Amino acid sequence: MKKYIIFFFSLIIFFSCEENNPNEVNVYSKRHYQVDIKQYENFEKLTGIKVNVIKAGDDELLERLKNEGKNSPADLYVTVDAGKLQKGVEMGLFQKINSDVIESNVSDDLKDINGFWIPITYRARLLVYSNERVKKSELSTYEDLANDKWKGRLLVRSSSNAYNQALMSSLYANLGEEAITDWSSGVVRNFARDPKGNDRDQVKAIAAGQGDVAIVNSYYIGLLLSSEKQSEVDAGNSVSVFFPNQGESERGTHINISGFAMTKNAPNKENAMKLLEYLTGIEAQNTYVNNSYEYPANPMVKPSNLVQSWGSFKRDNLDLNALGIYREDAIKIFDKTGWK
Ligand code: FE
Repeated sequence: MKKYIIFFFSLIIFFSCEENNPNEVNVYSKRHYQVDIKQYENFEKLTGIKVNVIKAGDDELLERLKNEGKNSPADLYVTVDAGKLQKGVEMGLFQKINSDVIESNVSDDLKDINGFWIPITYRARLLVYSNERVKKSELSTYEDLANDKWKGRLLVRSSSNAYNQALMSSLYANLGEEAITDWSSGVVRNFARDPKGNDRDQVKAIAAGQGDVAIVNSYYIGLLLSSEKQSEVDAGNSVSVFFPNQGESERGTHINISGFAMTKNAPNKENAMKLLEYLTGIEAQNTYVNNSYEYPANPMVKPSNLVQSWGSFKRDNLDLNALGIYREDAIKIFDKTGWK
């Protein structure tokens, strides 16, 4: 009997030790896409490393990392905006990521020049237009959206959204304060309605005839067209995709990355590195493009067939950290020009 009791207690000790030093990696995530669950399950199957995810808004997660300091259980922070990654760097929350594997997996022009964050995917904030009421030849640049010809026809979500703040930051960096103040005023004058809803809702509003042109992230068109809801498929089919600022002398379409940073005191650093190497590798990159319709950060991988059908495009090659550096200035422009 005594033997069994000893065995029983050693089992308890064994499992509680396991719990103190588990094979895991902890991710604080702003990403809100189904594909991530699949990626983390695949990674666990491959490596035995469990990915624990805590989801919240960017500002909340960054604040939490700051408050937790050295005691934070988080190894990685992932978001959908280089601007928020830059903000975290500025707050001193991250350490540099050194990996030859990641270095060779990822396109050079998508990388952080300071080495603190790494991209997994990118997305274009582009225009979609009504197939019924707009001709492609009427569209050209972001700047042109301030033209009177779009009066009462533009749809876009609120300025509190990071995607719009990143776009405005890119315009600030490229065009300067004066030009974009005029631009923003013109765009607000052309609104079909007060900003509301998310990117998908802007496309649905075009389908419902409430406006003709919307500013949205590229992958939402893929998500609508592959939706189980017929109304979403119909909305996706009511529009076409347009990449602005593609002329020879123009800077290209605004892009943003989705990317990871490693926390300063990552308790599971090795596992975190393995996860990043996996996510930038060919298998996981294919999983991203075919499920979330984002563009791959790894140039060896092609976008999904649907996304390829839109054609290739010139990306604005602005240093993506500018999307954070000019953020406060961008928000002031929104406020000053009445973009709600
Ligand atoms: Fe999104």
